[in-house]
Amino acid sequence: MTKIHVPADHPRKASLDIRERIIEGHENDIVATAGLLAHGRGEAFDYLLGEQTTELARMACQAAVAALLSAKHPVISVNGNICALVPRNLVELSELTDAPVEINLFYYRPVREEAIAGALRQAGATEILGTHDRPSETIPELSSNRRKVDSDGIAKADVVLVPLEDGDRTEALRKIDKFVVTIDLNPMSRTAVLSNITIVDNVVRSLPLMVEYAREMKGWSREKLRETVASFDNATNLSKALRLMIDHLSAQAVRGRVEEDE
Ligand code: ATP
Ligand code: MG
Repeated sequence: MTKIHVPADHPRKASLDIRERIIEGHENDIVATAGLLAHGRGEAFDYLLGEQTTELARMACQAAVAALLSAKHPVISVNGNICALVPRNLVELSELTDAPVEINLFYYRPVREEAIAGALRQAGATEILGTHDRPSETIPELSSNRRKVDSDGIAKADVVLVPLEDGDRTEALRKIDKFVVTIDLNPMSRTAVLSNITIVDNVVRSLPLMVEYAREMKGWSREKLRETVASFDNATNLSKALRLMIDHLSAQAVRGRVEEDE
């Protein structure tokens, strides 16, 4: 299929360009068909947030990077959508935090695994965990394909970054005592609620920000990193994120009423 060129002056250009990346990823076997739907839900929540990275999300990004940098065995779990959207940022973050990337797919097909591994390699990854030829173990409490995890990756990890995760898997990871960090635009999803740290933001904005923070925070002492993680409270973070969405909607509604009165 030919790629649609979104004109530079289109008011929704940024959003449409991202959508094109997901569609292209779908055509290249990177994104599952269900991934298109998940992206659409993300777009809706991004609208509610005003399509910008909030100060709250920045703080969550900082806590997330602190968790990765202070972990013994951090791992970054990769699925189709995240790979289609920010492959280079994923590899950069992986290098800066010494957290290997591990492919973990809900809708597993060998061709998808290959396409995702290829995209990660093209983005500069030299070590990719979670592929079919790797030693694996199964996480209890989970019946989907994703129960299979890499023995040197998620199986032994203490901190797992799972951007765009499904609630069932987050729950399973928490049950086996993993510290779970996620990026999810929906502050009410089970993933957002069950994770230890949730960045309520679009991955296309927060991944580059995490890379920036990782560069800066690499020099921080272990104590300062641990304090940053400990002072983060996810329940408060999520209720503040919801409040921001409510305020944004209220401001929009007021604007509509003023126009009606004029
Ligand atoms: P859960 O299983 O956690 O209850 P869900 O079933 O509603 O959530 P899933 O389809 O499992 O949702 O996961 C997709 C999640 O990813 C959604 O919450 C969606 O808002 C979010 N999402 C989609 N695209 C992005 C994006 N680009 N950046 C951040 N979050 C996104
Ligand atoms: Mg789900």
